[in-house]
Amino acid sequence: ILIMTVSSSIALVIVFIFMKDLRQQTVQFHSYREQADIDFLTGLKNKRIFTKKIEVLLQFSYDTTLLVIDVDKFKSINDRYGHDGGDAVLKQLATVMKTHCHNNQEPFRVGGEEFAVILTQMTPEQSYQMAEELRQAIAESEFILPDEQGLKVTISIGISRSPIDGKTINELYRKADMALYRAKYQGR
Ligand code: GH3
Ligand code: MG
Ligand code: MG
Repeated sequence: ILIMTVSSSIALVIVFIFMKDLRQQTVQFHSYREQADIDFLTGLKNKRIFTKKIEVLLQFSYDTTLLVIDVDKFKSINDRYGHDGGDAVLKQLATVMKTHCHNNQEPFRVGGEEFAVILTQMTPEQSYQMAEELRQAIAESEFILPDEQGLKVTISIGISRSPIDGKTINELYRKADMALYRAKYQGR
């Protein structure tokens, strides 16, 4: 009886240690998976998740609007205030976008100083208005640089909509990009 009690106690301790380790590994796995979906600098979801989401939407419903957002003259912000200054602007831009996007209007960071928002179940007029409000909110914000000086920043936005502008992510992105370049060309 003594031997059995001792050996089963040892077995129990071993099982407990294994279970604890397994739980830690599961938590770590979920944290790594989350990190793979989220942009480190801004905390926004990244291009991988953006692509996944838009592909699902296009597969099941064609009523999808894409906003491609690009920061105006961002290179000159970097040149003038350094890379840290540029990073601070990107972080604050993400915050304005997050507070401005409601319900199904999640912003993504899809490139260096390029962002995207996917809209569903909105008319072209509503999408345009939403984009215009976001543009204005950013233009009216004061961005704070690491040395605490304030800075004004503007963005340009290109919009496309399925199915009229395309039924695949590539077509939709290309059309929004073309509209974005028109916005840049017309004065940003
Ligand atoms: P435009 O109005 O035509 O968009 O001009 P732009 O200067 O914004 O365009 P351009 O594409 O020439 O510059 C983008 C710059 O963004 C270049 C690159 O060094 C910078 N950049 C990209 N990713 C990051 C980042 O994570 N942090 C910082 N600080 N800069 C970045
Ligand atoms: Mg760009
Ligand atoms: Mg730019």
